[in-house]
Amino acid sequence: MKPLIVDTLASEKGTRLTTRDVIGAGPRTVAGVLEKHGMEPTIIPVEKFLRGKKENQSFDVILISGMTPDIPAMGKTIRKWRKGNKGSVIIGGPSSSEPERVLKRTGADIAIIGEGEKTLSELIELGALQGSMEGLNEVLGISHRNKKRVTINPMRPVQSREVFKEYQASTDTILGYELYKSARVYVEALRGCSNYNRARIGPIGENCTFCEQCTESGLTERYDCPVGIPPGCGYCSVPSLYGPPKSRPVELIIGEVRRLLELGVHRIVLSAPGFLDYGRELLVEPEPLT
Ligand code: SF4
Repeated sequence: MKPLIVDTLASEKGTRLTTRDVIGAGPRTVAGVLEKHGMEPTIIPVEKFLRGKKENQSFDVILISGMTPDIPAMGKTIRKWRKGNKGSVIIGGPSSSEPERVLKRTGADIAIIGEGEKTLSELIELGALQGSMEGLNEVLGISHRNKKRVTINPMRPVQSREVFKEYQASTDTILGYELYKSARVYVEALRGCSNYNRARIGPIGENCTFCEQCTESGLTERYDCPVGIPPGCGYCSVPSLYGPPKSRPVELIIGEVRRLLELGVHRIVLSAPGFLDYGRELLVEPEPLT
């Protein structure tokens, strides 16, 4: 099986090239899961995919990473893929925070919601990359489409910090980016966010009862809101999709940076939703850093 990962991050319609000197960490995380399952994925940026012709047809399955503003580029990518390929289309990244909308607008088959390592592993084991729909209703953290009908499964609980050791981010797939030697390459240092305050006004927070559970109770109690208002600033889906902070072990970060430098990368950015959270969750464990 030859998987292709298309990186649409921050490309909007696939034409916003001013943002393309940044290479996010997400696509290489996905590639790492595929490599763990014995596959040899290729990553290419969306503009290269949209320019490509027959070379795109040699792949069996496509995985697309994107944010909500990139939904137009994701849709273009899928329309082009369907013209020359029969393989499944799986999407992920922050765009999946609105799973029904993203599946209907792009025409993808499956959206992975939130953290993807264990979910993608389960999909691989079920044969979903080969197009099998069997067992999809049991997979936590996905939504899937059957013609016009979209099914949204329950969320997967956030993964423990051990996931970073179990699934290593791919490094050599960086070579798929034409500009990797000059681009800023993001290396994941921390996932999740400690802001468990909630928006209490506007369409998201209008049901707030001002019980103050999210501001004045203990760290574990702050995790949930009795009326279901999602945590965070109100405009950002990081805490609701990725949970409270978990820091990636230093030795894994150093190993990844070393290999990227060997491959010719010159500019590294350690990525974190809030870098000052790094290591702080260790101070309050086993409670979550909310
Ligand atoms: S926990 Fe929910 S209902 Fe209570 S104050 Fe916070 S947002 Fe409002």
